[in-house]
Amino acid sequence: MAWRSSGGSNRDLIENLFRNGMIKHLEVKEAFLKVDRAHYAPSHPYDDSPQPIGHHATISAPHMHASAVENLLPFLTPSPARPAPRALDIGSGSGYLTHVMAELVGGGGGAVVGVEHIAPLRDMGERNMRKSEDGRRLLDAGRVRFVVGDGRRGWVDTEGGGLKGEGGKWDAIHVGAAAAEVHPELLAQLASPGRMFIPVDDELGGGDQHVWCVDKDGEGVVTKRRLFGVRYVPLTDPPSE
Ligand code: SAH
Repeated sequence: MAWRSSGGSNRDLIENLFRNGMIKHLEVKEAFLKVDRAHYAPSHPYDDSPQPIGHHATISAPHMHASAVENLLPFLTPSPARPAPRALDIGSGSGYLTHVMAELVGGGGGAVVGVEHIAPLRDMGERNMRKSEDGRRLLDAGRVRFVVGDGRRGWVDTEGGGLKGEGGKWDAIHVGAAAAEVHPELLAQLASPGRMFIPVDDELGGGDQHVWCVDKDGEGVVTKRRLFGVRYVPLTDPPSE
């Protein structure tokens, strides 16, 4: 169960997520074990719960991050069809998930870009990742970058040889804040095939949200599956200073 996975150490937390079935694949477990959540969550890092990180943002609960990675996994890891996966982490906040995703894309040219609309949070994400030797290595190798932008518009990568692949499109897109809709620009930037994990406000309103798994197949045909109900902070305009 979701909330039963809290632990006394990073390893405890990840082992509990695995035992409780929130993490299913060994490669996902390995990636999470490489990232110490204490570098990203200022309080109670090994609780399976969201924690405030300032600027009205939160680091999501570990079981939510686990679910996101499990769902995106086929599009995050290198394969003959996709030797250098490119992933976008929108609303990168603490930088935790951006780091976990970077562990999975492999060293063959795969890359993750974290998009955050609050500049101090963009900086915090990178600073958090620099706390570990592994994080510094990934940053210095260009396997991960944090940028400032409005994630509702995706990210058009013009740096670091980023315009590789299918016109610079993204194999995997994770959205870490609740969107009013599946934004058309995000969908346009999704590779074919590609997958997006996105919390969206329910059409009926009332403040409820569900995560959607949006797939684009090799022919560009889009299908959407509603996964489960969530409570994320909204994907918004940046707050005025
Ligand atoms: N994945 C992050 C989630 C942080 S909370 C983590 O677990 O640490 C959601 C984040 O989305 C916040 O940092 C917020 O500043 C950011 N955000 C909200 N609207 C945004 C937008 N339009 N573009 C980019 N980031 C946005």
